[in-house]
Amino acid sequence: MTGFADFHRRSLEDREGFWKEQSQLIGWHKPPVQICDYSNPPFTRWFVGGQTNLCHNAVDRHLLTRPDQPALIFVSTETGVERTYTFHELHREVQRAAAALLALGVKRGDRVLIYMPMIAEAAFAMLACARIGAIHSVVFGGFASVSLASRIEDATPKAIVSADAGSRGGKVMPYKPLLDEAIRLSKHKPESVLLVDRGLAPMERVAGRDHDWAESVARQDGVQVPCVWLESTDISYTIYTSGTTGLPKGVQRDVGGYTVALAASMKHIFLGEPGETFFSTSDIGWVVGHSYIVYGPLIAGMATIMYEGVPIRPDAGIWWSLVEKYKVSGMFSAPTAVRVLKKHDPAFLAKYDLSSLKALFLAGEPLDEPTARWISDGLGVPIIDNYWQTESGWPILTIANGVEKKPSKFGSPGVPMYGYDVKIVHENTGEELTGANEKGVVVIEGPTPPGFMQTVWGDDARFVRTYWQTVPGKLVYSTFDWGIRDADGYYYILGRTDDVINVAGHRLGTREIEESISSHSGVAEVAVVGVADQLKGQVAMAFVVPRDSAAMVNTASRLKLEGEIMKVVDEQLGAVARPSRVHLVHALPKTRSGKLLRRAIQAVAEGRDAGDLTTIEDPSALQQIKDLMAP
Ligand code: ATP
Ligand code: MG
Repeated sequence: MTGFADFHRRSLEDREGFWKEQSQLIGWHKPPVQICDYSNPPFTRWFVGGQTNLCHNAVDRHLLTRPDQPALIFVSTETGVERTYTFHELHREVQRAAAALLALGVKRGDRVLIYMPMIAEAAFAMLACARIGAIHSVVFGGFASVSLASRIEDATPKAIVSADAGSRGGKVMPYKPLLDEAIRLSKHKPESVLLVDRGLAPMERVAGRDHDWAESVARQDGVQVPCVWLESTDISYTIYTSGTTGLPKGVQRDVGGYTVALAASMKHIFLGEPGETFFSTSDIGWVVGHSYIVYGPLIAGMATIMYEGVPIRPDAGIWWSLVEKYKVSGMFSAPTAVRVLKKHDPAFLAKYDLSSLKALFLAGEPLDEPTARWISDGLGVPIIDNYWQTESGWPILTIANGVEKKPSKFGSPGVPMYGYDVKIVHENTGEELTGANEKGVVVIEGPTPPGFMQTVWGDDARFVRTYWQTVPGKLVYSTFDWGIRDADGYYYILGRTDDVINVAGHRLGTREIEESISSHSGVAEVAVVGVADQLKGQVAMAFVVPRDSAAMVNTASRLKLEGEIMKVVDEQLGAVARPSRVHLVHALPKTRSGKLLRRAIQAVAEGRDAGDLTTIEDPSALQQIKDLMAP
């Protein structure tokens, strides 16, 4: 067995040979003629001349070997529905959905916008688009009209698939009125809307435009819709970034490269074997949902759990009960979800038989050490942090235990994955920093690996302008994250390049200060932002959610906690990093995908307008900070 270092080296030095081998993990209608075309940098084209189909690889390819094995396991703790679809049944559902879309006039290359709750039909719709070569654009169901309208305008869909309502924590969230309003606001109008009626909320239908999902697919029962063989470099889908740092970017992905990237990652990183079950707790509206709820596990011949509900209802053991019930072998979640569980009894983690579980993968946000330890001790399985982006489609930094078992280090997502030529460069000069623990910007030298975004949807110039820069001798993609690499080659992400605080000439990553504060046992969550200061340029200000909310009402205990937190920072990082103020709050403002909205907190703390808040989860959290800042 080759070690990971060799594996990684080969992926860059013998790019053609390495990826040709990986490309054999999937089914091709026509094999590629050229593996990697980087003749027009920074645009990378993978598996040129090859023809394949995502839906073929996710569904049809398994019909011979495992037709009666579970493929999609839909669990809703909101409606009490729990249903398993075998590969055979999934094939039937996807064909019916594809036929219904064709009947609405949707053709290869047309966009279909999917605005849906976490229900099985959402996966059917995505796979149906992939089957007929329509480009799906899934918009997270938690978004309201304005966010949705801007995405409708950008994607210009021929059809929209939606539902009457979603449900969250037992509360029905009507979708249809928001969709109608979004279409009204948008300059682009879809020709048709296909609506799943879950019977949760009344729906008004627009005659001629709106169609019922159940009726439409029933009419197509038994109709055969073969997979359309697409060029590897055709577009499979577009998806928007989380919008943490500003306006979301429409990420565009290919067909062949993405399929190969997912097949390879299921094997090398996620340890997935055909016949096993994967459970990703994300949402189809995010890239994790695309890659590791829908496509990745199915391509690997695994069953995938699609879960509608919150992690703590009926109780904080619900996820682990599903691991036991469906013998989940790989689970994927986010630090923000673990922090939600951490507010509950750790006994829930030990209540179920988790012997099937090989590892818990976490991604999306820095994984602080106390959170990692809490979940790792509670579950007794390896916790594997993944660092990646909507843009990359699959992990950039992690540990590929499927290639070589390597220890994880707390606080580090791991090492660069095969195919990624990761570098740390000086923020101003772009000079590569090769020494251990030198802090710089994490960049990827082109060509980017299979699965990586092709471009910004409809705007090549924005792709080049936003992400790419020429540094001495090379063209690199910027992640806009700070990082360091230690002497063993492990990377540490220190925060976003926008999130650096400059205190009297010292540059501090918000992440470092947050990490230090969260090591205090009284701290559940923390956000640190830099606030303009006449004397020092900037000072750090901390917003802390205490473990025990009693600390907030009692002045003495509040002051005690604030003092202790400052002391922790003094001891660990030095007085220069000490926050000028520590504010205790009930909750922190986050995006719908669970990321801290530091830029909004910072704006409010500086008395500015909070800017674009279309992706905010809980506006009251920001309001509390506004109130605190009011003179
Ligand atoms: P936008 O690009 O629109 O501002 P976003 O960057 O939050 O939004 P995503 O693509 O969802 O959109 O998030 C990717 C970012 O999340 C990374 O660039 C990094 O800042 C952060 N991130 C993801 N995983 C990790 C991780 N394991 N450790 C630290 N940070 C992470
Ligand atoms: Mg980003």
